Amino acid sequence: MNASKRHQIFSRLRDDNPNPTTELEYRNPFELLVAVTLSAQATDVGVNKATRRLFPVANTPEAILALGVDGLKEYIKTIGLYNSKAENIIKACRILVERHNSQVPETREALEALPGVGRKTANVVLNTAFGQPTMAVDTHIFRVSNRTGIAPGKTVLEVEKKLLRFIPREFLKDAHHWLILHGRYICVARRPRCGACLIEDLCEYKQKSEL
Ligand code: SF4
Repeated sequence: MNASKRHQIFSRLRDDNPNPTTELEYRNPFELLVAVTLSAQATDVGVNKATRRLFPVANTPEAILALGVDGLKEYIKTIGLYNSKAENIIKACRILVERHNSQVPETREALEALPGVGRKTANVVLNTAFGQPTMAVDTHIFRVSNRTGIAPGKTVLEVEKKLLRFIPREFLKDAHHWLILHGRYICVARRPRCGACLIEDLCEYKQKSEL
């Protein structure tokens, strides 16, 4: 795919949704960090349901530590893998209190040193909480990047690096959200909704559907 097509694709996505953001509900970087950690292999809707109960009671590292692992589990037990997620969140809160003055750090290195926080979670926090032009490649972004030809790659890391290299600078901060939303609602996994797709004429996918 050439640079002009990429530019047109992101121009259209921006025109359609000028201020995209995550569908996870959060009010500060710490809430976002917890929500993203909970969202691994879970839906945003399911996470929001749990955090709507949790955050009014505990939305600081200290308050979550005060709940303890079992207390935290009570709030998140509707979410998949909640046992290990609760353990990781408690450990991460301890580190935030002891090493980061109870604040969410703004560097990849410090974020990835927190239990339960991998490259993808760090990318989401850096991008969404701190406005850094990172690219968290999830299953939706991976699929859309490959199908369209925006940034084809065999691995998540290859796609991430290509996206960072190929997406015009002006779109980089918001591109992550546009691609996720596009993958979640239009370029869906089973049968993409090409008939309703606003970048259909620019997309290079060979098996477009008429849906
Ligand atoms: S045209 Fe189809 S395959 Fe291409 S981005 Fe749109 S929905 Fe996805």
